[in-house]
Amino acid sequence: MPEGDTVFATATALRTALAGKRLSYTQFRVPRLATTDLSGRIVVAVRSRGKHLLIDVAGPDERRPDVGAVSIHSHLKMEGAWHVYPVGRRWRRPGFQARVVLRTDDAEAVGFDLGILELSDDPEAALGHLGPDLLALDWDRDEAVRRIEQRPDDPIGTALLNQRLLAGIGNVYRSEICFLRGTLPTRDVRDVDVPATVDLSRRLLWANRSRTARTTTGQTAASARLWVYGRRGQLCRRCRTPIERGQLGSIGDDRVIYFCPGCQT
Ligand SMILES: [Zn+2]
Repeated sequence: MPEGDTVFATATALRTALAGKRLSYTQFRVPRLATTDLSGRIVVAVRSRGKHLLIDVAGPDERRPDVGAVSIHSHLKMEGAWHVYPVGRRWRRPGFQARVVLRTDDAEAVGFDLGILELSDDPEAALGHLGPDLLALDWDRDEAVRRIEQRPDDPIGTALLNQRLLAGIGNVYRSEICFLRGTLPTRDVRDVDVPATVDLSRRLLWANRSRTARTTTGQTAASARLWVYGRRGQLCRRCRTPIERGQLGSIGDDRVIYFCPGCQT
């Protein structure tokens, strides 16, 4: 499942392929953008913010690159992915899943099944609601702590997923973070060591930002990478209690969460 680390790694790959390059061909396969053509324009930058991805494209007139500059804003949601190929290489996903194709002289970036795909002339405004990005170089830890502590009645499991409080954690990480803190996800923020939880979140995502397979245990074997997520009924790696799966049931948060009733209180 794409989370902040996946998006960070995706941005790195897209930056290598596109940044500073001229687009020779573009195709947007969503009705709203069907007539959009960015060919001839230069890609200025590729950035990630939490689970959002921005590809900044200069305006058509190179002498005035800010005029008409746009950002391609995408979000992977559950099934989305960006792939980078040498031009002419066969795609690894079916063509009907492609939502956008961006080609340079030597590379082709294809966005498949993107949850969000839009053009924005003011991406800062579009993403202004997001809390501090856990993978930003100038990560604002104190602001993330402050925002979470402003919601003392929220279950910590819900707060960690709230991108307005801090950006980058998805469903896998929130289960793993609560486990590693020994905290049931239902525990109220007021009863949680928020700074320690935030620091752990940053550490985990940062350590995984350029790994091909996410691990929270430090193990790289496929069956050993996670403590609790996806392990319902299997034994806890620490205390041998069967892992349970549940839902927090708070408003707007009906996604499953995994926990160890032995290790987490
Ligand atoms: Zn346990």
